[in-house]
Amino acid sequence: MAEKRKYSRKYCKYCEAKIEFLDYKDTKLLKHSLSERYKIMPRRLTGNCKKHQEMAEIAIKRARHTALIPYIIDTKNIVANPFEGLQ
Ligand SMILES: [Zn+2]
Repeated sequence: MAEKRKYSRKYCKYCEAKIEFLDYKDTKLLKHSLSERYKIMPRRLTGNCKKHQEMAEIAIKRARHTALIPYIIDTKNIVANPFEGLQ
């Protein structure tokens, strides 16, 4: 299998960081749940718990509406790894 795994171990990053409430203005945190094309990553890939996944979904949709996160991106400008710098 040539598929590269982005996530080595499954655990909820938000639980680990002890985040009670996910703010839509905090795009750095929301990037944990976004793919390189700014799509919401499914829980089975990120390992988020249900509580935080639902919170992230609401926050991401809100952030998109307020233009903090793009709905779609130009395929020419794909960031190699939006997760770098977040650990
Ligand atoms: Zn969690």
